[in-house]
Amino acid sequence: MLFTELGLSDAILRAVSDQGYTTPTPIQAQAIPAVLAGGDLLAGAQTGTGKTAGFTLPILHRLSTAIKNPNVHGTPIRTLILTPTRELAAQVEESVRQYGKYLKLTSAVIFGGVGINPQIKLLKHGVDILVATPGRLLDHMQQGTVNLNHVEILVLDEADRMLDMGFIKDIKRVLAALPKKRQNLLFSATFSDEIKTLADGLLNAPAMIEVARRNSTVEIIAQKVHPVDRDKKHPMLTHLIKTHQWSQVLVFTRTKHGANKLVEQLEKDAISAMAIHGNKSQSARTKALAEFKDGNLQVLVATDIAARGIDIDQLPHVVNYDLPNVAEDYVHRIGRTGRAGATGEAVSLVCVDEFSLLKDIEKLIKRELPREIIDGFEPDPHAKAQPIQLRSGGGGGRGQQPRAGGAGKPRSGTPGKPRSGPAPANGNVAVRSSAQHRSGGRGR
Ligand code: AMP
Repeated sequence: MLFTELGLSDAILRAVSDQGYTTPTPIQAQAIPAVLAGGDLLAGAQTGTGKTAGFTLPILHRLSTAIKNPNVHGTPIRTLILTPTRELAAQVEESVRQYGKYLKLTSAVIFGGVGINPQIKLLKHGVDILVATPGRLLDHMQQGTVNLNHVEILVLDEADRMLDMGFIKDIKRVLAALPKKRQNLLFSATFSDEIKTLADGLLNAPAMIEVARRNSTVEIIAQKVHPVDRDKKHPMLTHLIKTHQWSQVLVFTRTKHGANKLVEQLEKDAISAMAIHGNKSQSARTKALAEFKDGNLQVLVATDIAARGIDIDQLPHVVNYDLPNVAEDYVHRIGRTGRAGATGEAVSLVCVDEFSLLKDIEKLIKRELPREIIDGFEPDPHAKAQPIQLRSGGGGGRGQQPRAGGAGKPRSGTPGKPRSGPAPANGNVAVRSSAQHRSGGRGR
């Protein structure tokens, strides 16, 4: 199947072709006709499947070909896309701009961590497509600076993550402010009971699409475990980076403090590194991500939530410096590599404290990961496991706090497992250009 067979307008096809894509991914091949047909959609698809274009392309087509309501003046928001994190919101809006570059439609993204006033200006001016994280959108609703009365299409992207992050109340308040008659698209990687309840209340006779689960993405990623003593992880990472000459590595740590510490250590080893996590200002996170994407930064150290939705083409190496507390996060992490068919490599540095986490992961992905001991880093066979520190120690790196009234509960499917509550993406700024994007201050 080719993109040209999907019924999209020439202007959109041209933009797709500019990206170098000719063949739709499975989610695109199914979602695009379903969305063009105008009905609701429930899609099981994860980051890395091409889902963003799966909803963006048909939305752009529908908005650009619909006849404008003569009774509505200005540029009302006609599509609202909600995402769980700031990074994902920015990436989705970037896609909207890329795929819509030959159309007259306008878009904006609003999220927290940056000043609200530039967003107010943008919203006053009017945009066709608004991408937002729930927190700041609510701020705007409360201040009366956003008008959602003309929304025709609603997208909930990574709905499972939004629920995990405690956004359900916020989402319900947003839904209550939308016109009753609209098209709803819900994308989720997993289908917990909570998601099913949300979908039941939201969707009207939806088309249902489920593309290959992440586990099959897992197949194309070479995975390895390097057993190592807890205090040898840093020298081992430096050893791996230097001997293999890795030039672009995404490294995951469990805590924000751990991420900061590792950055300092790597820099002492003459390896350029930056951290992204919830305690970093939005501008610092955006800068680190941009430098990493451009190839100017060798190592990006991230906590799980900060890395969610990061889209880096052809990222060759992911390192689990610490295993995640929740097995599903392993799959999300390694999915940063090997995207859209590219092959990648994911290595995990595992110490004795993490053996039970490793077991959980292997159970989830239904395979045993190969162990490879590295010469000079043989783990002490008599080492005793110590409890894993879930929260950061000092240095301002307290464990991430859940959003008030929201997250902090264990992820479904992992009963009783402690999980540090994710930092919500709930402050928020409207940005239209990358330049503006990088200039935001902190605070809601
Ligand atoms: P997503 O799942 O939307 O985050 O997309 C994952 C990655 O696949 C992104 O880097 C996209 O640019 C890329 N991508 C999207 N559609 C296609 C396609 N049809 N062919 C190849 N790559 C694609």
